This record gives sequence, structure tokens and C-alpha cells, in this order.
Amino acid sequence: MQTCKRCIYHSEIPKITFNSDGVCNYCEQYDSMNTQYPTGEEGDKIIRAYVAQMKEDGKGKPYDVVIGVSGGCDSSYMLHLAKNVYGLRVLAAHFDNTYNSKIAVENIKIVLDKLGIDLFTHVVDNKEFEGIQKSLLKASVPEFEAATDLALATTHYMACAKYGIKHIWEGHSFRTEGVSPPGWFYMDAKYIHSIHKQFGDGKIKSTPLLWLSKWIKWMVINKIKKFRPLYYLEYNKEEVKKFLASEYGWQWYGGHHMENRTAYFINNYYLPIKFGIDLRWCEYSALVRSGQMKREVALEKIKEPKPFDNDLLVEIKTRLNYTDNEWESIMNTKPKHYTDYPTYKKTFERLRPFFFILLKSGYVTRSFYDKFCVLKETSKK
Ligand SMILES: [Zn+2]
Repeated sequence: MQTCKRCIYHSEIPKITFNSDGVCNYCEQYDSMNTQYPTGEEGDKIIRAYVAQMKEDGKGKPYDVVIGVSGGCDSSYMLHLAKNVYGLRVLAAHFDNTYNSKIAVENIKIVLDKLGIDLFTHVVDNKEFEGIQKSLLKASVPEFEAATDLALATTHYMACAKYGIKHIWEGHSFRTEGVSPPGWFYMDAKYIHSIHKQFGDGKIKSTPLLWLSKWIKWMVINKIKKFRPLYYLEYNKEEVKKFLASEYGWQWYGGHHMENRTAYFINNYYLPIKFGIDLRWCEYSALVRSGQMKREVALEKIKEPKPFDNDLLVEIKTRLNYTDNEWESIMNTKPKHYTDYPTYKKTFERLRPFFFILLKSGYVTRSFYDKFCVLKETSKK
């Protein structure tokens, strides 16, 4: 077992390589992104130029930008930035998978109220959504959250399309949460649908999934672009949390992704126990690279067991209607990989030149292009 000399990634991380100094390829990728996305004065200039274009595009429309909200730190801070720092007219969008934590709901309300921002919400048919979640568990793949994540992304487009808005801001920050290594997770609408057809009733009506034809229409016809402002900012998570608490009465919910109970369940129970995936490797490594956590601290912290509240497991089992035996069988079924099911992956690879144009004009993100279009499907590890 080799561990990177700079971050805490090790030989078990998919596709890892080490250079002659013992530094991993993900640290090198970080450095290249760090140059590509400057912060400070230069970053501010880039954001302001983009904002000027957004205001131009928003003329005659009720809003300039859609921002997805979860009650988490990143999205709450983006609302503040967009409205109070850059003077944008914001429409917040939220997809409710019915597992929000109480704190998350309060955070969303308190920040939106204080900023006077409207909210676009999409709530799913509970029964249908739970059916999809059960199919994903039965399929034995790690992407239990894929339906929620895709629905979230689709809700942003729906909000844009409804009001003619051309911009979506995403709260991802490679400096604080990192980029998950390829091979851990995959998602697309066809993947979810094929799994639900095989393991459930296959009916998907109220759950918005990013179907390829619709997605392309939203990009090419509606001209909806994506932007990640946190890439261009000195984004220090601890400081931002303190700021949000004092400025808005926002509350910290105890850990990355813990604002939603299924996300918490997946990250702290299902992924580590069944698939051996601990996302803290990713998060802590990112914080170490960006100087927000000491490497020695990260190496110590990663040894701590992940906190997990057993009541949540009971709640999930009850809501999804599993007996203890059925649950045990889910946990014991051999893990599968997205390549075991039909997906759009090959289509994305074939459409690589088309997506390259979309990338260059700001419609898709670099991480989507690299993971979905460039990386070949057969790569499990
Ligand atoms: Zn490294």
C-alpha cells in the first residue's frame, strides 16, 4: 500500500499513479485545475465578466440565474454571493426527495427569506421515487443517490426553461470537496431507467431524470449554461460556515452531505460498509491540497469511525418496507458496477466531439466531459 506524499490518497483509489516524488496524479490534476481556475483578483475579474453577460442575458426575464439549494454550506453561500455580492436576480431551485433534515429545511428558509429570493420546488410522487430507490438497492450498485442527483440537476433546467433563464450556478468546489475518482460512481437517465425496468415496475413519471434528448434541447435550443463560481474564489469552508451562521443564522449540520438523510445514510453507512467507499478520502485530500487541513490531521481523522445514527437505518428500512432479512440480503449481495447495465455511456463517448463544443461554450462542465465522454467504459478500476 502506497500513500501519496502530499495528500492522503493511496493505492486502492481507482486509476491512481504516483510520480517519482511519490505524489499522486490527483494532486497533479489539482495543480492543473488550480492554474486553470485562478482565484483572487484574477478570479474576481472572470466572475464579474461572466456576471455582466448574465445580466445582459437576463434582460426582459424575471431572473438572471438559477441556483440549486440544499440548505448546505456551498449552496447557501452561493445565494449570498449571487444576490449580495454580484447583484444578480436569483431563482432558487430545490428538488425534495422527502428526506431533508430539519436543519436543512430551516437553513433554506432562513437564507431565502433574508435575501428575498423566490423558490422553485419540484416534489416527486413518493411511491414512485421509493420504487426507484428500491430498484437501485436491488441492482446492488453504489449509485443509490443517482436518482436524487439527476432529479436535482433536471429541476435546475426545468426552472430555467419555465422563466427563460440562461444560467445555472453550481456549488461544487474542487478545493474543498475534491473530484471523486473515476470508477466510483456513474449516473445517467438510461442507467436509472434500465435498472428500474429490470428490478421494479419501470414507471418513471414524476421523477425528472436528465433524458439525453431533453438535455440537449435545454442546451442547444434554450441555451442554458453552467458555471461554478466557487472555482474562482478563495473558498475556505470553515470561514464560510462561521460567516453564514453570523449573517443568516444558518446552522451547521455536522458533516459534508449530511443535510439530507439519504445522503447521510449512503455516505456513512451504505457506501463504506457495502462498497468500501469512504468519501472522506476525497474530501480530506482536497482540503489537504488546498491547505485547509494538515496532512497529519487528515491521516488521523480518517481513522475515526464514521458517525452513524442507527435510527436512520430503521427509518429507511421502514419507509422502503424491508424486513431485516431482506435488508441483510441487500447488504450481502455482491456489488455490481454500472457497466453491468445499459447506460448512455457509449453514446456520450460517440458524441465526444459534440460535447467538446458544448464544453467550450460553457454548457457542460469539464468533469462531465472528462468522466463521461473521454474516459472509456471498460475501466472498472
Ligand atoms: Zn496526492
